[in-house]
Amino acid sequence: MKLPADSHVHSEWSWDTGGPTSVAAGRMRATCVQAIRIGLPALTFTEHLDFPGTWRSRSEDLMSHQRGFLSSAGGVEHPLFDADGYFEAIDRLRPEFPELDIRTGVEFGQPHLFADDAAALTDLAALDLVLGSLHTLDMGSGLRAEPVTLYAEHPASDVMWAYLEEVPRMVDGSDSFAVFTHIDYAARTWPSWEVGPFEPRVFEEGFRGAMRSIAASGRALEMNTGRLWSWIPQWWAEEGGRAVTFGSDAHTPDAVARNFPEATAMLEHYGFRAGANSWDLWTR
Ligand SMILES: [Zn+2]
Ligand SMILES: [Zn+2]
Repeated sequence: MKLPADSHVHSEWSWDTGGPTSVAAGRMRATCVQAIRIGLPALTFTEHLDFPGTWRSRSEDLMSHQRGFLSSAGGVEHPLFDADGYFEAIDRLRPEFPELDIRTGVEFGQPHLFADDAAALTDLAALDLVLGSLHTLDMGSGLRAEPVTLYAEHPASDVMWAYLEEVPRMVDGSDSFAVFTHIDYAARTWPSWEVGPFEPRVFEEGFRGAMRSIAASGRALEMNTGRLWSWIPQWWAEEGGRAVTFGSDAHTPDAVARNFPEATAMLEHYGFRAGANSWDLWTR
């Protein structure tokens, strides 16, 4: 079986890896080497497009190499996406790996809030793929925060509902992204040690409503293969979803295309089929 493109991959050009002068240097090339080793035909480097100072965090919620970005006021002041450096790196790598389709993209965080900032930084239309991600919420403090931070401040179910209720606002409030990523994002840091394991069926109506809004907008839903859930493709298909991408969300070369054989088998079960090109959406 031919693997589909990995449509969600990070490298040293994403601020959360530490940047091109950090230990992450060379990760883009190493990821291409790994892709060829495992027979992956195509991948998209979807680097983080986030805006510094627009969200808050706590030291314990960040990885050690990210803690230096924390301001004394609690804002996360990470570097801006270096679009020129990124495009130059892609241009250098393509001739080195002619058997791999290396595609361009970004993972645009909160695209409904930062359209003007993004346009000032780079031309999104020039990219092969724009992912839309909801990473942060404002639950009343005035500055947005990741679910991992909000779980320390609010009942866990309130955070999950707030996340799911913001999805339609993001979908309706932006025309710049084609694929909604990791809809289970708030489940990744669910405080199971306090409230028990995450039970998706408790939030079924919220997930289904979020999926309906994404489907009605004509967008695709990412099957994030960091964690496989059969209810995601099932509910997506039942709520009218027609298209999916596969994304490992790899931040290191070893994680590229992780769980792809299992994920593609699951999506075939729910009626999704590959397109002509490895990077085409799978549709039903
Ligand atoms: Zn993300
Ligand atoms: Zn990502």
